[in-house]
Amino acid sequence: MSNATTPMIRHWIDGALSESTSGRTAPVHNPATGKVIREVALANEAEIAAAISSAQKGFETWSALSMARRQTVIFKFRELLNNKKTELAAIVTEEHGKVLSDAMGEIARGQEVVELATGFPHLIKGGFSENVSTGIDVYTLKQPLGVVGVISPFNFPVMVPMWFFPIAIAAGNAVILKPSEKDPSAAIWMAELWKEAGLPDGVFTVLNGDKQAVDGLLNAPEVQSISFVGSTPIARYIYETAAKNGKRVQALGGAKNHMLVLPDADLNLVADQAINAGYGAAGERCMALSVVLAVEPVADELIEKITERIGKLRVGNGGEGADGSTSEPDLGPLITAEHRAKVSNYVDIAEADGGRIVVDGRNCKVDGHEDGFFFGPTLIDNLSTESRAYTEEIFGPVLQVVRVKSFEEGVELINSGQFGNGTAIFTNDGGAARRFQHEIHVGMVGINVPIPVPVAYHSFGGWKASLFGDAKAYGVHGFDFFTREKAITSRWLDPAKHGGINLGFPQND
Ligand code: NAD
Repeated sequence: MSNATTPMIRHWIDGALSESTSGRTAPVHNPATGKVIREVALANEAEIAAAISSAQKGFETWSALSMARRQTVIFKFRELLNNKKTELAAIVTEEHGKVLSDAMGEIARGQEVVELATGFPHLIKGGFSENVSTGIDVYTLKQPLGVVGVISPFNFPVMVPMWFFPIAIAAGNAVILKPSEKDPSAAIWMAELWKEAGLPDGVFTVLNGDKQAVDGLLNAPEVQSISFVGSTPIARYIYETAAKNGKRVQALGGAKNHMLVLPDADLNLVADQAINAGYGAAGERCMALSVVLAVEPVADELIEKITERIGKLRVGNGGEGADGSTSEPDLGPLITAEHRAKVSNYVDIAEADGGRIVVDGRNCKVDGHEDGFFFGPTLIDNLSTESRAYTEEIFGPVLQVVRVKSFEEGVELINSGQFGNGTAIFTNDGGAARRFQHEIHVGMVGINVPIPVPVAYHSFGGWKASLFGDAKAYGVHGFDFFTREKAITSRWLDPAKHGGINLGFPQND
C-alpha cells in the first residue's frame, strides 16, 4: 500500500523533472519486500504534447551541432556511467529484484552500445561516387529522423533503452523514452546523467505512463519512429499501429528459447549452462532458456544433474551481499505478485497436462521476506508439446525438459514454434552445429553458448513473433534505423565547357 508520503517519480521534460497533473499514478514495488516504495506518474495528453514539443526543440539544437561536439557529449556520458554505475545497479535491483551482480551485467551490456555510439561518425558517413556521368558526382547523406520514441519493458530497465538511445542520440535525433511503469527510476537517473554530460535540454526525454502514453507517441505525427521491446501481443499492436501511421518501426516481442543437447555433449557443461540460462534473473530475460531438448538417451542423466544443481541455488533479496557481510543470492523475486501468479498458473497447467514436476518452486518462501514475490527454480519433465505451458512464454524460473529421438526431430520442434528469438546447440560435433546454424529459424544462435546476445557491433533481434519490422536493435541495423539516406546527384559545370540544351531523359555518359 502506498500513502501520502510515498515518493513520486515524475517525467523528465526540457532537461528537468516535470510534475504530472494527470492525477493518475501506478505503484512501484520493491519485489523483494512486496512493499510500494514509489508511485510513478502516468502521463495525460498535455504531458505527452509537452514532451513532444520539447523534443522537437531539442532536435533542432542537437542536430545542428557538429559531429565532434556531439561526440564529446557521448564520451562524457560513457565516462560518467562508468564512474557511477553501482548507483544505477542499486536502483535496478531495488525496483526490478534481480541480484546486484546481474544488474551490473545488464549495465555493462548497455554500456557496450554507448561505446559503439562514441564512434558514430564512422557509421553514418554515407558514400561518394565520383564522375558517375561526365562531370556528375553522386553522394549519400545519412540524416537523423527527428523525434524518435523508445518504449521499453520491465526486465531490462537500463540495457534495453540503451540498445536504442545512444545510437539514436549520436545520429542526431531527440529521444522520448517511455520506460516500463514497473521500474521507471533508472530512466530518470540516466536522464540526469545525460544532463551532467552536457546534452542539450529536450534531446533525452522520459515520459512516464501506460497505454495512454504509448498511444500518444504512436499517434503523434511529430514522432518519426518507434523502437519497442516487450511482449508479443503488444509488439504486434505497436508494429501495426505505428506502421499504419507511417512511422518507421521495430518491435521486439517475446520468446521461448530451446537448447538442443546432442548425446555427445559434455553433460556437466550442459547442466551448468542450463541452470545459468534458465534461472538467472529468475527467468525474466527474453533470452532465458525455457526448454532443454534432450536427444535421447541423455535426458535422465541430465535431469539428475540439473536437479542436483538446483538444490544448491539460493533464492533471496537481490540487494543482499552489497555490503559484503552476506553472500549474494542466486536469484531474486519476480516483478509483481500478478506475474508470480501467472508463472504459478503455467506450472499448474503443465501438471494438469501430464508434466512431471521434478522440482516445484510454487511454494517458495524467503525468511524475513514473507511478502516478496519469490518463485523457486522449477523443473518439469515429460510435458506434452501441445500444452500451453510448452507453447507459450512463461517468463519465470521454469525449465522444461523435452525428450526427442533425433537432431532432426529437435530442429523441427524448434522451427514449428511461434517464436524465433534465441536458441543454442550443445555438442562436440562441428558438422551438426554447422547444420543447426543453417537450418534453424531463429534470429540468434549459440553453439555451446546458452545466451547468445550479440555484442554491440552485431545486431540483436529474433525472427517470427519475436520481432516485427525489418530492423534489429543496435549494430549497423541501429544506425540504419535512426538515419535516413538522401542521395545527391550533383554537377558543377566546368567553366571551360557548357552542356547546352537537351530535353531528353538524363542518361549517364
Ligand atoms: P509488456 O509488453 O507488458 O510491456 C512493454 C511496454 O509496453 C511497457 O512500457 C508497457 O507500459 C507498454 N504496454 C503494456 N501494455 C500496453 C498496451 N496494451 N498498449 C500499449 N503499450 C503497452 O512487456 P513486459 O512485461 O514489460 O516485458 C516482458 C516481455 O518483454 C516478455 O515477453 C519478454 O520476452 C519481452 N522482451 C523481449 C525482448 C526482446 O529482445 N525480444 C527483450 C526484453 C523483453
